[in-house]
Amino acid sequence: MEFGFELALAARLESEWPVVSRQLGASVHDRRVMDLVCVEPGPAFDERVALTPETIPPAAIESKVGPGRARYWKEAFDCHPERAERAVEAAVECGFFERERRSSRTYVRQVTRYPDWFDRLVGVENKPDLGRPGALETQLLTDVKLGLLDAVVLATASHVTGAHRNRIPDEVGIWQFDPETGERTVLREPEPLPVDEPGIDICDRSSARTEIQVADTGEKKRVRRALAERAYGKGWRTYGMPACAQVDPDEHGLPYCPWKGRIVRPATECGPDCGGHDPAEPPGFDPEALRAARTSWEPDPDGRARRQTGLERFSE
Ligand code: SF4
Repeated sequence: MEFGFELALAARLESEWPVVSRQLGASVHDRRVMDLVCVEPGPAFDERVALTPETIPPAAIESKVGPGRARYWKEAFDCHPERAERAVEAAVECGFFERERRSSRTYVRQVTRYPDWFDRLVGVENKPDLGRPGALETQLLTDVKLGLLDAVVLATASHVTGAHRNRIPDEVGIWQFDPETGERTVLREPEPLPVDEPGIDICDRSSARTEIQVADTGEKKRVRRALAERAYGKGWRTYGMPACAQVDPDEHGLPYCPWKGRIVRPATECGPDCGGHDPAEPPGFDPEALRAARTSWEPDPDGRARRQTGLERFSE
């Protein structure tokens, strides 16, 4: 139920936010994964669109490589050399860096200055059935204390009672969402979280003693940018269609199965073990074309630098 709810909500949010993604890490020291993240555009969003459709590696953005003079790559990164090398490769591959060889060394520079492209980040925790809340309260409290995202919302299909509201931190917004009709009702607006102040990461609640770590503003800024980049490159249509004649994707590319009467999760629900399975070629499904048609994300921007992979070997 949660998978179908999540995809249906992502499809709905895509009509309002230019970038929507799912299942992204949203903590500084912990492994908290946010169900959905919506990115609001910043002043230079168009420049980001023109740069590359992919995630620009955060290590490349954080490095000392700028748009002016080309730098010897080994002197421009503070991280482990292997991570640095991977970041250089990925940044060249996606068109953010260009490289040149001088004697036997690789020098790199930014093709264009990294744009100030995103503004607010809104996290959505999905809990279609509030009757089975799991660790919901603690998760939301963690998000509020950390303040990594500008706003956090709980989305549910359940009827929300006063008792539910009282258990959800005041800062967290509440949406009621009907995955069948796509109707979203805002029951409570979220309060802005202090993203520019240090936050508290609650890391381990398994032991008797709760382990916490302070996340300073620099770390939060770095993780926010990595999160926004990941969301931009990943989007939310990260699934494939099953090799089954029953599946009937809708206009948003949601994997609807008439036999089950709902959206299915192909990776775990489809195959010979399913009673309705009818082997066939998977139906045509082009997640990039769907995303490009519905948002300003551009899969093949004009201004993109020519890919250099394969033309030039990486050298010392
Ligand atoms: S394998 Fe089963 S769940 Fe998947 S599309 Fe076919 S009938 Fe539906």
